[in-house]
Formats: sequence, structure tokens, C-alpha cells
Amino acid sequence: MSIRQPPVLAVKPSPALFLLAATLAVVSQWRSASAQDTSTTERADMMKEIAAIAAGTGAASGRHTLDPRVMAVMGQVPRHEFVPEAQKPYAYHNRPLPIGHGQTISQPYIVGLMTDLLMAKPGDTVLEIGTGSGYQAAVLAGLVKAVYTIEIIEPLGRQACDRLKRLAYQQVACKVGDGYYGWEEHAPYDAIVVTAAASHVPPPLIRQLKPGGRMVIPVGAQFMTQYLLLVEKAADGAVSTRQILPVRFVPLVSKP
Ligand code: SAH
Repeated sequence: MSIRQPPVLAVKPSPALFLLAATLAVVSQWRSASAQDTSTTERADMMKEIAAIAAGTGAASGRHTLDPRVMAVMGQVPRHEFVPEAQKPYAYHNRPLPIGHGQTISQPYIVGLMTDLLMAKPGDTVLEIGTGSGYQAAVLAGLVKAVYTIEIIEPLGRQACDRLKRLAYQQVACKVGDGYYGWEEHAPYDAIVVTAAASHVPPPLIRQLKPGGRMVIPVGAQFMTQYLLLVEKAADGAVSTRQILPVRFVPLVSKP
């Protein structure tokens, strides 16, 4: 039995076709390189603004300059990857932006200040409550060994997790759940950051903080003055709290 092979067609591309393909390749490379340059410049400008705000509010916050490690990492994390398409032009403005589901990605200066206050070290394990876009988790990932982050709104949590995976932030583990109760399995933590405003400091989070650990958390009702608090747990387990700055955050909610 003989199998007839279809005839092989030798198509010879014309030189004009070659030229067009080469031009398109160059243009697309140039566009992605120039988009990268723009975001690098915008990020550098955002970092200058953060430094200026830190200097201006230092008297109140107690932090005239932020840790150079925090500044360096924030100068690298591509914030434009963490905001919806429509918000990308504003990704490097120093302000919170909507990320859907009524939630926001925090103002970059506040992310910098909160991260700075945690005084996280390279070997640390950090818990974040309120994954949101995943930006704060990505910043922490550049500074510590492991980041655990919890988000209560499932689609947001899943989207942030996929994004962090795509951007290769392997040190971040995420889950969907109520962060009020922390993440017992990986406790205790060297530092805990809560990125939604609670009415009080959740006792389970205090329990999951290591002696010598630090927690940064906004506390206060949604439309009232909220304060960023630094909660420190001493080596003997004694807990002390310091008010840092008035802030405005979305509320820490519980599952209906
Ligand atoms: N850290 C985020 C911004 C967080 S906005 C970022 O970098 O983008 C606050 C987030 O906390 C919201 O996404 C909100 O859904 C979430 N949140 C509110 N209450 C929560 C709770 N009890 N547990 C976990 N997440 C909660």
C-alpha cells in the first residue's frame, strides 16, 4: 500500500516581506524598551517624592528618612503591574488607586513608611493582612525570607496570587480568608502588617507575633480619624503601642 504524501510547497518569501517582519520586530522591541524606560524614570521620581514627604512629616512620624533597603526595593517593584489597566497612567503618582471590589492599593509613601516601621531583616517571616493588589507583599518579598498574605475577597486574592506568581515573587504564599485570625500554621512572625483599618488590634495577631516582633496596623472607624499604630512585643511578651500618623484605610471586615 502506498501513502501519497501531499506535495511540499516551497514558498519563497519576498524581500519586501522580510523587510516588513524585521521592521515590526524592531518597532515592538523599541516600544517595550521605551515603556520600561518610562516606568523606571517614573519610579525614580516617585521615590524622590516619597523621600521628600518622609522628610516633611518626619517630625510627626518619627521617620525623617526611610530605610535605604526599603527605598531600594520600592525603586524596583513595578507598581504599574499591580493596578488595573485604566489606572496605569497614575501608577507612579503618590496616591492610593482603585483596584476593584471597592478596594484600593495604598499610597506609596504609606507603603514605604509601614514597611520601614516593620524593621524587617533578610531572614524574617512576615504576615500581611489584606493582600489587595499584592504590591505590599511584593515590596516585602524583596526584603525578607518569607511573606504570608491573606485576602478576604476571593477574586482579589486569587488575582493577586496569580500576579505574584507571574512576576516570580516566590517567597510569597497567599490564601483567601479572614485575616483577623492570622495564619496560625506559619506563626510566630517577626513582623505583621495590616493594610486595612481595624476597630482594635486583633488579639490573635498579637499572639502570633514573636517576642521582639513588630506589628504595624491602622486602627479606627472608617469615616473617623484612624491612626497608624506600631505595636511592639518585648522579649518578655509585654506589648506596647505607639501612634505614628493619622491615616485613611479601607476597613478590616469579617466574612458575612
Ligand atoms: N496591601 C494591599 C492594599 C490593601 S487594601 C496592596 O498592597 O494592594 C486592604 C485589603 O484588605 C482589601 O483588599 C480588603 O479586601 C482586605 N481586607 C479587608 N478585611 C480583611 C480581612 N478581615 N482579612 C483579610 N483581608 C481583608
